[in-house]
Amino acid sequence: MPLQDFSKHRLLAPGPVPLSEKVRQSLSAPMIHHRTPEFEAILQSCWKNLQWMFQTTQPVLILPTTGSGGMEAVMTNTLSPGDSVLVVVSGKFGERWKKMAEVYGLNAESFDSPWGKKLDLAGFEKKLQSKAYSAVFTQVCETSTATLHPIQEMAALHRRHQKGLFIVDAITAIGCTPLPMEEWGLDGVVAGSQKAFALPTGLAFVALSEKAWKANSHSGIPKFYLDLKKEREANEKGQTHFSSSVTLVRALSVALQEFQEMGLDSLLKLIHKRAQATREGLTAMGLKIYSESPSPSVTAVEVPSALDGAKLRAHIESQYRITLMGGQDHLKGKILRFGHMGNISPDDILASLEALGLACRDFGLQDMSDEKIQSALERAGKILK
Ligand SMILES: *Cc1c(COP(=O)(O)O)cnc(C)c1O
Repeated sequence: MPLQDFSKHRLLAPGPVPLSEKVRQSLSAPMIHHRTPEFEAILQSCWKNLQWMFQTTQPVLILPTTGSGGMEAVMTNTLSPGDSVLVVVSGKFGERWKKMAEVYGLNAESFDSPWGKKLDLAGFEKKLQSKAYSAVFTQVCETSTATLHPIQEMAALHRRHQKGLFIVDAITAIGCTPLPMEEWGLDGVVAGSQKAFALPTGLAFVALSEKAWKANSHSGIPKFYLDLKKEREANEKGQTHFSSSVTLVRALSVALQEFQEMGLDSLLKLIHKRAQATREGLTAMGLKIYSESPSPSVTAVEVPSALDGAKLRAHIESQYRITLMGGQDHLKGKILRFGHMGNISPDDILASLEALGLACRDFGLQDMSDEKIQSALERAGKILK
């Protein structure tokens, strides 16, 4: 006898995520032109509030592309072909940095951190001592394994041993976990609209440190559309380099206003609480959390070995109407990922836990008793209060 309501669809992916009512309303407002005082005021408020989210005094640029476009822009705007770079590879998105670096003719080495494991800081330090890199690239949260990296410590080690840039993909980190760009000395930070910003896909947000802007002035990789210097110069005149994504930027201003009203600390606490409730609920069901260093933005749980994770995921979606994500590559069918960002309610989280428990039973997992499901819901419910 299900306890939760499974009649409405619930989106619990690590991006895209459910939007707020106000954001959805703003998305249907009549179109305005991007070169108007009305739109310029919206842009100005977004730029200011993004600096607040990134905790930087440097400009945060809004690019009409997805998160990966933001990653690419940071790379192409700070480096030259042949530059030596180090890429932390701990999952699919680390691999993306690496492939991108190869495409642009960088001399890319990996620091391989086993998927789902705690990053080995001593090993990372050794690598940083081995030679000079023009830049080091990493994820803050490797979304594919739901693993959070110790960025503050990594940035401090980088500063001790390297003169180049320390660049982070913070696409599932900004708005989820503390990441004060200036205080921690990050040289490039990338975020994307469909994750913690709780907007549709289609915008990337990018900030460079003073050092990274200096590197920009002599970076030799060709660029045309995603030229950050041109974008910045246009912003200084209250405009964007090319046509603005009016609808998305207007929705961004609404989302940022909501975050402002809530406060950054409260936003981070809320996400943290959702992650904690999910983890404790899963553990109470006798399941194992996949990552040794779990992220607040997304949780990966190991699928019981008797079950096929891909079938389980599809069944949860069709039978219980909850969208979770599976694993990729060698994790395909082995993990399920629960997103904690965006406009999700305590009920969504409880429903996702119960659905997983019931689905395990639907596939014949005898271990998954009523008591276990009940205790998961109680544990999670207490945390979510
Ligand atoms: C989602 C995500 C991306 C990719 O963003 P797109 O918007 O799909 O281009 C990159 N890095 C991380 C860590 C992500 O979670």
